[in-house]
Amino acid sequence: MTDLPLDPFFTGPGLDRADALRADEAGIRALAAGPRARQLKWRDGLPELGGDGRLSWAAANGPDLFLGFDGDAPCFSRVEDVTADARSAFPLMALLDRNDAPLFAAALSLSRWHSRHRFCANSGHLTEIARGGWSRRCPNCGAEHYPRVDPVVIMLAEHDGKLLLGRQPQYPPNRYSALAGFVEVGENLEAAVARELFEEAGVRVRNIRYVASQPWPFPSSLMFGCHADADGPELTIDTAELEDARWFSRAEVAAALEERPDAPFQPPPRMAIARTLLERWLAA
Ligand SMILES: [Zn+2]
Repeated sequence: MTDLPLDPFFTGPGLDRADALRADEAGIRALAAGPRARQLKWRDGLPELGGDGRLSWAAANGPDLFLGFDGDAPCFSRVEDVTADARSAFPLMALLDRNDAPLFAAALSLSRWHSRHRFCANSGHLTEIARGGWSRRCPNCGAEHYPRVDPVVIMLAEHDGKLLLGRQPQYPPNRYSALAGFVEVGENLEAAVARELFEEAGVRVRNIRYVASQPWPFPSSLMFGCHADADGPELTIDTAELEDARWFSRAEVAAALEERPDAPFQPPPRMAIARTLLERWLAA
């Protein structure tokens, strides 16, 4: 047992998001013009990091998005056309200080949403940034649009003391991770967990429980980490989704997380909530 909370990457206190100030457009402009205002620096479509793994900042210069307060410093970003996917961002995220990870995720998802959702979904007109960047308003029909959050379930199924992990074709060699899938309209989290495990691996589950959640900024998912008990060990793998899926024992998962040379698989990286789910399972 461990007393340490094993929290997913991209979670933590982050900034004071100052929601109450967002409706005050003149107030936000005044904050942006003040001496303590700072603006997130970007490089190659991702927030820029200093050598210490912390986010890099410059003096504010006509920023679009009010991210919130770091102490008494108002923090802003411009809208950046984010093209990086998770795979290309992994090397940078491996250097990212986890204290700055929640802000990294927020800036990335928010900026990408603005750059890709410029037109009103109702009337097709160009919309305008509103509420300090936390919504867009249509001057034609008055509709207000909010940044997307896409719920995803990611889950460990357990049977007879072993965990079900799978690998997608694009994973690095020998990596196995938790199965995952988007929640569909009209589903709750439990229904999505049961459906995905049956669709991808042919496994029926019960006793589904929520473990932890994590924002995942590629582009704007909210990962719901869950655990479920499988009725049996038989697998029917959907090879359109998975290259392989297998059951791994506690000793095998421990060897993988300790990155021992004889480990039977390579674990998910530390910024993935799948890693947290495995760590918590071992610690329980
Ligand atoms: Zn409209």
